[in-house]
Amino acid sequence: MNNVLLLDNKNHPINICSWKRALVLLMKGKAVTILSDIDIRLNEKMLIPRVIKLTYDLKIPYKELPFCKENVLVRDEFVCQYCGNKFHPDELTLDHVYPKSRLGPDIWENIVACCKNCNQKKADRTPKEARMKLLRRPYRPKDYLKFEMKKYPESLIKYWQEYFEAS
Ligand SMILES: [Zn+2]
Repeated sequence: MNNVLLLDNKNHPINICSWKRALVLLMKGKAVTILSDIDIRLNEKMLIPRVIKLTYDLKIPYKELPFCKENVLVRDEFVCQYCGNKFHPDELTLDHVYPKSRLGPDIWENIVACCKNCNQKKADRTPKEARMKLLRRPYRPKDYLKFEMKKYPESLIKYWQEYFEAS
């Protein structure tokens, strides 16, 4: 995976794009390389851009993070929010904190990652009724891009981190 962090011309992260897309922007002079390093592929050393910056002013509209199972699991870091154990995504379900059977809504603030055992144990009850404590109160992630970044491997995030912290 060779994705590239794209900054606007004021150094704020605005997107994570493919390596090919980054090269096109660089070749067209629409962006400049801020950070690159050498990647060894097939015995060939290539200079790969890791962070690039737009050379022109671009306004990015606010993007709402889609509410879906994958994103809830990423938010909860694949940790069951009741027993605290980490699971493979296939082994996790989504739990309605306030039960669905009592019209608990499908919203970020009411849904958590939950292992199958805990889900069965909790059943149609609130955490209090089931005497199961939530690790943390579920929330709606605010920063779309910071959130997307979590889906990439540590080997890439290490190049990007400081640009998120600075913005
Ligand atoms: Zn569990």
